Amino acid sequence: MTESGLTIRDKPNFYVTEHFMYSDFICPCCDTIKLVPGFYRHVSMLEQLRKRAGFPIYVTSGYRCKAHNAKIAGEPRSWHLLFATDIKPENSDQEKLRILYEGAIDLGFTGIGRYNTFIHLDLRPNAVRWRV
Ligand SMILES: [Zn+2]
Repeated sequence: MTESGLTIRDKPNFYVTEHFMYSDFICPCCDTIKLVPGFYRHVSMLEQLRKRAGFPIYVTSGYRCKAHNAKIAGEPRSWHLLFATDIKPENSDQEKLRILYEGAIDLGFTGIGRYNTFIHLDLRPNAVRWRV
């Protein structure tokens, strides 16, 4: 909630692609986002992933300001400080998570982390994949 009592989703908002809005990617504590090089590429790849998958993708974390990243105990050099997304299908369905993971590899995301309930994606220069 903001001081006006509205959440970001009640405010004017815009689609970045067919399925994703700016509000999907903003920092939850301050409603901001950094339009770093790679932001639109990342989101357009996410849109391709969504179209391939054919089911909704929920973004649980996008851009994080330094304060928010610290508050949620994110890694101090987290890619979320520039731009990264954590995504999941409804109910963190394992088969759908697998489809998203394989799709992210095909589409060329370079930082790909597979967690039990979500997948981390970023466009770091040197490709890294990990499984938690
Ligand atoms: Zn913030």
